[in-house]
Amino acid sequence: MLASLAARSSRAAYPALARTAAPLSQRRTFINGSEDYGKHVFKGAVADSYLAKQGLPAGLLDDPSWTRTSADKVAAAVMSWAHDMGAGVITHWFQPMACNGVRHGMSGQVQNAMFVFDKDGKPKWELEGKTIFQGETDGSSFPNGGMRATHTAGGYTIIDPTSPIFLRGDTVFIPTIFVSFYGDALDEKTPLLRATKAVSTQATRLLKLMGYSVDKVFPNIGLEQEFFFVPRKDYYRRPDLQLTGRTIMGKNAPRGQEMSDHYMSAINPVAMACMQEIQHECFMMGIPLKTRHREVAPNQYEFAPFFGTATTQIDQNLVVMQICDEVAARHGLACLAQEKPFKDVNGSGKHNNISLGTNTGVNLLNPKQLAKASGSHEIFPVLMAAMVRSVDLHGDLMRMAIASPGNDFRLGAMEAPPAVISTYLGDDITQYLEEFKSTKTAKEYVAASKVVDLGLEEIAPFSMPAEDRNRTSPFPYGGHRFEFRAVGSSQNVSLVNTVLCSIWADSFAYFADQIEAGKSPVDVAAEALDKHWRVIFNGNGYDESWPIEAEKRGIWRIDSGVESILRFSDPKNIALFEKLGVFNEKECKARTEVLLDHYSGFVEMEAATMIDMMKQHVLPAVLAADLDPKYAADIRAACAAVEAGLHKMHVVSDSASKARVARELRLETMDQARTVCDKAEGEVPADLWTLATYKELLFLDSHQGSDATDY
Ligand code: ADP
Ligand code: MG
Repeated sequence: MLASLAARSSRAAYPALARTAAPLSQRRTFINGSEDYGKHVFKGAVADSYLAKQGLPAGLLDDPSWTRTSADKVAAAVMSWAHDMGAGVITHWFQPMACNGVRHGMSGQVQNAMFVFDKDGKPKWELEGKTIFQGETDGSSFPNGGMRATHTAGGYTIIDPTSPIFLRGDTVFIPTIFVSFYGDALDEKTPLLRATKAVSTQATRLLKLMGYSVDKVFPNIGLEQEFFFVPRKDYYRRPDLQLTGRTIMGKNAPRGQEMSDHYMSAINPVAMACMQEIQHECFMMGIPLKTRHREVAPNQYEFAPFFGTATTQIDQNLVVMQICDEVAARHGLACLAQEKPFKDVNGSGKHNNISLGTNTGVNLLNPKQLAKASGSHEIFPVLMAAMVRSVDLHGDLMRMAIASPGNDFRLGAMEAPPAVISTYLGDDITQYLEEFKSTKTAKEYVAASKVVDLGLEEIAPFSMPAEDRNRTSPFPYGGHRFEFRAVGSSQNVSLVNTVLCSIWADSFAYFADQIEAGKSPVDVAAEALDKHWRVIFNGNGYDESWPIEAEKRGIWRIDSGVESILRFSDPKNIALFEKLGVFNEKECKARTEVLLDHYSGFVEMEAATMIDMMKQHVLPAVLAADLDPKYAADIRAACAAVEAGLHKMHVVSDSASKARVARELRLETMDQARTVCDKAEGEVPADLWTLATYKELLFLDSHQGSDATDY
């Protein structure tokens, strides 16, 4: 049953692939040769062969100016590619604000057949350049924070050539930005493009002042995506998972992650078949989803791609999340991308690995590569000093960017760094920078390594970096890249990278200004390091003493996600974004509203779901089980408290107050109600309990063999 389901779905999605009649396993697992890789993305050799038929040169798409010069011919090439792949529908694909959490696919799209109609009303295949270039849509129902009213509803989608056109099933997807009639950004992507430009402008300026000229600098990112798989039949017995993505109640299973026995263990066959099919779909679209493994919690998994440019990676990450959702259903599973679907076991993150690359392929965070390309040892410590300054000054914005509702339950627990924003550089780099700032001379940075000889004849001596990893820092330097570890799994990480690029651009500009005014780069960097050294923390970020110590040091600590959202409109931050051309004041304020409303909306859904569950499941089960009447009384009281909290939310009108009330409802009232429900769950006989339990949801490992075919 499992095999036949997968075969059907595979054929439906890939008519062209089915014709190749490869063995089923090969079709699903992408081991049938690299020639199929990227067939469904209009890029590289695939695009070039269709462009050639239109008389266009190979590599045309690498330069975004094609949208101004050759859009019609590119459109014709796209249509002919689409036809060969069995697709005849096209859509502009954009990323409305505040889409994380429950919007399926996290994108906006209206799909149109590639038809025009002749006089007789007969359709004719046609795709014009202007159709792929620009679209207009009624966008009044998207969150906009007051930037549009129903009477000024027009939203415009314009192609973003930094991310390739791709195809899935019968539809061609054109990645676009989404802006209002007045040019205000209504999406996640426009600000990212602006921030990418700002960081390029300021980085190239600073590099030039230090004698290293490059045309462009851009962020490279790699997004590790964590998620859970749960049996779909049990998912259907959890209104909270279906409606909000997390379990609002649920007694802990007797087995959790106490022995860390799930971490990197073998992938069981049900999940494996699903992951293989996900990878297969991704590979067809040129999404380099290389890595798969299990994570710490039971039923928790991870995919990681090979890194690439930020816009493309983010687009691809959204597609990955959608594919995970859809393919999981074909395998009798549900994929949960929420940050904390289960209490008492680890939640999920999306580690945002980031470095800056030049158009000549040099990684600016790789000291050896940078020194070789630039002939200077000075640039690396200067860039690192600028980055340290950014984290110290604008840790509030980094905290804001990760304030997704699900991260409420994750930050500060034993799995994600606390809501204190510091950076870990490791002893090696820290010592190097310490010497740099005290001597004011830039030496070559040589990464220390050590050779380990185990003294076993069979095992050859091997070398390892002298630097260990630090999993407890929100923003460690991991050798050639920073890793923003506190990012939430359900997020569209555009805002995260918009913030990182902006705060780096700000420090690069600050350094460049001073160098232009006559100071030496080394002096500027040493001074900045002196001033901002406090934000470097190489110790254990999970230690209870750290938040207290952090506060003493005066670095950013914002426990409440709601309060961190409000930092978006702080005058310091509006000034930063305006100066760099990333957000204007109106956009900052609108986004603050959107994020607050998104948070409150989430809590509203969760509270209403909890009330339903208590009334329709927990209470009836407790009554049927004939438990001591105090259980029913406690549940009724808890339910009334959640109802009162919800009412309190409804009578508050401004977004900030509403979000504060929502936070209290969620983290206090609902948490107390949960304790009452979980206690009752422990007493009710299994056959009377009508919600799926943690035991049922979390152990796919025991669903193998013949009973796996039930899925
Ligand atoms: P970890 O051991 O940290 O979990 P993974 O291999 O799971 O590492 O993921 C690391 C991610 O970081 C991958 O997506 C990888 O491509 C990405 N990455 C590696 N080097 C860089 C770099 N220089 N810039 C940006 N991302 C990078
Ligand atoms: Mg990993």
